[in-house]
Amino acid sequence: MSDTTPPRAASPRPVSPCPRCAHETIEHITGSPVPGVWEVLQCARCLYMWRTSEPARRTRRDAYPEEFMLTPEDIGAAPEVPAVPPLRGPGAGPATR
Ligand SMILES: [Zn+2]
Repeated sequence: MSDTTPPRAASPRPVSPCPRCAHETIEHITGSPVPGVWEVLQCARCLYMWRTSEPARRTRRDAYPEEFMLTPEDIGAAPEVPAVPPLRGPGAGPATR
């Protein structure tokens, strides 16, 4: 073939935006024991974390399920994570085992 443009060079790999919120700042959390097989990445904004060997619907913005996508407005309006309620005292009901 006369095409001189290689299809997606293997290195260096461009950092893709967060699959969930499209944020550009992606942190490298850890990598595979055998270097270069996979990485665990995390979005600095929405804290979404994924492993690069997961399917495209978990790792690529263009394949991520639309119903789970977030915008900065969504993140700003997200409700607070519920607090853990205080422990029940003795005799406050059947214990959960
Ligand atoms: Zn994100």
